[in-house]
Amino acid sequence: MNIVIVEPSRVVQKVLSQTLEDATHTVICYFDASIALERLRADDSVDVLITSLQTEGMAGLELVRAARALAGSRRALYVLVMSSSGERGTLIEALDAGADDFIGKPPAREELLARLRVADRVAALQRDLIRLATIDAMTGVLNRRAFFETSAIYARSHTDAVAIFDIDRFKQINDTYGHACGDTVIIAVAQAAAVRCPAVGRLGGEEFGMLLPGGSVKSAVDMCEAIRQDVAALRFPQIDPALSLTCSFGAGEWRAGETLDEALKRADVALYAAKSGGRNRVIAATGATNGGAVVVSAPGAQLRRRAGQ
Ligand code: GH3
Ligand code: MG
Ligand code: MG
Repeated sequence: MNIVIVEPSRVVQKVLSQTLEDATHTVICYFDASIALERLRADDSVDVLITSLQTEGMAGLELVRAARALAGSRRALYVLVMSSSGERGTLIEALDAGADDFIGKPPAREELLARLRVADRVAALQRDLIRLATIDAMTGVLNRRAFFETSAIYARSHTDAVAIFDIDRFKQINDTYGHACGDTVIIAVAQAAAVRCPAVGRLGGEEFGMLLPGGSVKSAVDMCEAIRQDVAALRFPQIDPALSLTCSFGAGEWRAGETLDEALKRADVALYAAKSGGRNRVIAATGATNGGAVVVSAPGAQLRRRAGQ
């Protein structure tokens, strides 16, 4: 596991890191709790925080509270507090502040390793729960709820871009090849989008949303256009070598101060225009939520069923 230790004594730091590294953990030690917190903030690969209650920079108790708030419900971070026998009262506060467990200071080697095995078990369960709660089981992209929650973690004081896309004439695919083959197609399309965009969410059925933090509408259009071409190039020899499909895309600004819902409405207007304009195209919305939309990319072929279809 990746472990951050916050401890004011160099000697204790050394003993702990030796023990943990011998047990194949990766360890980073800090004297200063506020610098350790920066690390936790910047590096979500940290699995465990082991902290003394007496720390430099900020109080150990504050670090525990901040680490718990940082992890929230979307990150498995196990917090283990080291306390000397005179700190019993503070220990209770530490548990209430979000610590998962505590150990005497200095910790006995075997006890520390056993407590970390507990941490490993708990973190694995937590990761499973987080995955089940946030990932769409069929496609592997964010589910609808997590997509909207993800938007909340971007501190937005600027304009970003969003996009929505939907598979064209998908009902025909279901009707022709059956629901299970339809699922295969939805999965392939979601994965094609995830290759180009780090924040893809399945909004429902065969409709997906994409977030581009810091992106312009032009960059959203370019990304959609690339995905449009990738999707058009997908083939499904296991279903029918003649099957190919297309998607329609709507892109738009996500202005500072707007909710994601408001921005998606704008993109939805553009998606509607893409559908009614002939499908298999990217349209960028301009103007307010109910404003106009302009064609950006040239239309291509719709769902084609070749030979014998
Ligand atoms: P359009 O080009 O206008 O989008 O036409 P469409 O046929 O794709 O219409 P629409 O987007 O409304 O069709 C959605 C269909 O997707 C209806 C529903 O039966 C099907 N669907 C929704 N969720 C799933 C799913 O998880 N798996 C499969 N196989 N089909 C689904
Ligand atoms: Mg559709
Ligand atoms: Mg749809």
